[in-house]
Amino acid sequence: MTSPPVGERRGIFTPELLDRCISCGFCLPACPTYGLTGEETSSPRGRINLMRAIETGQLAVDDPTVVEESSFCLGCRACEPVCPAGVQYGALLEEWRDELWRPERRPWRLRALLWAVDARARVRLMGVARRHAKGAGEGAEPASLMLGCFERALYPRVSRSARELDPSLAAPPAQGCCGALHAHNGELERGNALARELGEALPGTIVTTSGGCSAHLASVLGPERVKELSQWLAGRGSTVDEPATGARPRIGFQDSCHARNGLGVGKEPRELIATVGEYVELPSAAACCGAAGTYAILRPEDSARVLDRHLDEIADADLDVLAVANPGCYRQLQQGIKRRRLRTKVLHLAELLADADRIVSHRSA
Ligand code: SF4
Ligand code: SF4
Repeated sequence: MTSPPVGERRGIFTPELLDRCISCGFCLPACPTYGLTGEETSSPRGRINLMRAIETGQLAVDDPTVVEESSFCLGCRACEPVCPAGVQYGALLEEWRDELWRPERRPWRLRALLWAVDARARVRLMGVARRHAKGAGEGAEPASLMLGCFERALYPRVSRSARELDPSLAAPPAQGCCGALHAHNGELERGNALARELGEALPGTIVTTSGGCSAHLASVLGPERVKELSQWLAGRGSTVDEPATGARPRIGFQDSCHARNGLGVGKEPRELIATVGEYVELPSAAACCGAAGTYAILRPEDSARVLDRHLDEIADADLDVLAVANPGCYRQLQQGIKRRRLRTKVLHLAELLADADRIVSHRSA
């Protein structure tokens, strides 16, 4: 790969995005990977310096440290809300991986995942044998429920629960993937095209049960067109059935990184949970659980290290239920809790609210 003369730009990054960082370091304490290593290169500021070095030719695009850090980063965007300069780190990471993660450099597992969600017919096939939501909406204004790709196969009850909570949502099964997987894994243009396709296929407001999908869709279609489920329910003043009588269940919440850091959604799910149980704020609720899209599949050991403190906190809090708002977090926490043999049940927020009248506390007195 030929490098440009030092000082000239390669054109990998949008200059206004790359130049915005003032190197203040406020983002370092918020970064989970910096928390693991204490190394500057594993921090947002360190990675932006690596991006600048490859942009100006001081480092090769495929320098081993550059390659490692582009992959070690969770893409959780916890560095964004704490940044006084308004650095859009998530957008920079997408541009970085778009340049670096060329098809021939991708591990086969990532290639297989991207292939699976690249065509609407294949996405539809994933849910054929599953009882996910489907049907027309009952509302006067058109609004559509996004079924997701892997969520429709792995957690079909989530979309059914969302539709129980709001029957005005249409759930047409012939919908494809939103493109977030592509955009976060080196295929930005394809990821944006898939989001536009989904926007054309689904009428009205698009409501999603996945924080990662909602942030990606909103970045392409605009935030007024896309609502994460808790935003949607809170905006409509939806109510849920009375919880079961007896001790109120202790319920924690794991934020979806992209819903929280990309869309500012955090208050809404907590307020909804407090209507059906005793809400318990875990110290690391807002920090990434290590699922991070494809991260748990591509870097399982680092993902488990990131997850560990969450499991410690869940055990200490003796929760009845941990609510999640993203299918990746669902799988990550369900598996971690099972490995630790904790009694806490993981539920999507939609399932929790739809089943509130049946959820009871099993805490020993
Ligand atoms: S907080 Fe923002 S401006 Fe400061 S070092 Fe981090 S990314 Fe750069
Ligand atoms: S996206 Fe997350 S892991 Fe990556 S630099 Fe920002 S805070 Fe750190």
